[in-house]
Amino acid sequence: MNKYTINHFNKDFPDDDSCLDWLKNYLYPKGVFCEKCQKITKHYKVRGRTAYACDLCGNHIYPMAGTIFEKSVTALRLWFYAIYLMSATRCGISAKQIQRETGVTYKTAWRMFRQIRSLLQSDNKPSSGEFEIDDTYIGGKRPGKRGRGAEGKTTVLGMVQRKGKVKALKTADLKRSTVYPLIKASIKPNSKVYTDEFHTYDSLKTLGYAHHSVNHSLEMWVEGDAHTNAIEGFWSLLKRGINGVYHAVSQKHLQGYINEYSFRYNHRGDNKPMFKTILERV
Ligand SMILES: [Zn+2]
Repeated sequence: MNKYTINHFNKDFPDDDSCLDWLKNYLYPKGVFCEKCQKITKHYKVRGRTAYACDLCGNHIYPMAGTIFEKSVTALRLWFYAIYLMSATRCGISAKQIQRETGVTYKTAWRMFRQIRSLLQSDNKPSSGEFEIDDTYIGGKRPGKRGRGAEGKTTVLGMVQRKGKVKALKTADLKRSTVYPLIKASIKPNSKVYTDEFHTYDSLKTLGYAHHSVNHSLEMWVEGDAHTNAIEGFWSLLKRGINGVYHAVSQKHLQGYINEYSFRYNHRGDNKPMFKTILERV
């Protein structure tokens, strides 16, 4: 991945105007179409406002309309900087850190944090290929019995495509009636799926998959393709992040955190800097 450093950021976005300019150019790559003139015309920045005006008729356009910045009074560069911060660290950043780094109030930082994170949801298109499916628990103090929703713990179902993307979802429980529709919505029939021997996964063949289960209790060396290493790697990344950066996560916000980590995982090998990928979703 190309490293996009704070120097790059400061050079590309020295002030609010340069951020607005980026947004305008991103939204109108071929130039701004003026509704009044009914053609692409030259537009210039209106001083003191977040608008551009048509050179011919003076009609205003507002690039922030319809983006996460729309109703915000926070300076645009602070938004961009917060996005940069969220993209620049390997394991994420908290609202508290955004507050510290940008100088906005905690309330504002938290709002920005949530808005930015809302950009990180993955698309829901089902795909086909080779997948690993597994579940884990987040939160709670004591280890609990699997599949029973031990107290204070939240169940998370994860599906990762080998050499591909991960999708992880908070679920109420691990019943087949809960889990199978989620799997069906993400993985196309005729795909190969690997799981461990947990009973919920017993009937995955009924969904049209070639199902292989891996016996963890035998403690054998992993032979060939029959393993769930990729999804287990993702779980450890997720848990390390939640414990290290956020300490604890309420059930209400858990899916947001999961989305953030999934996004990081899914874009870890991109050539495009993560900062730009997020920015292009505003
Ligand atoms: Zn015009």
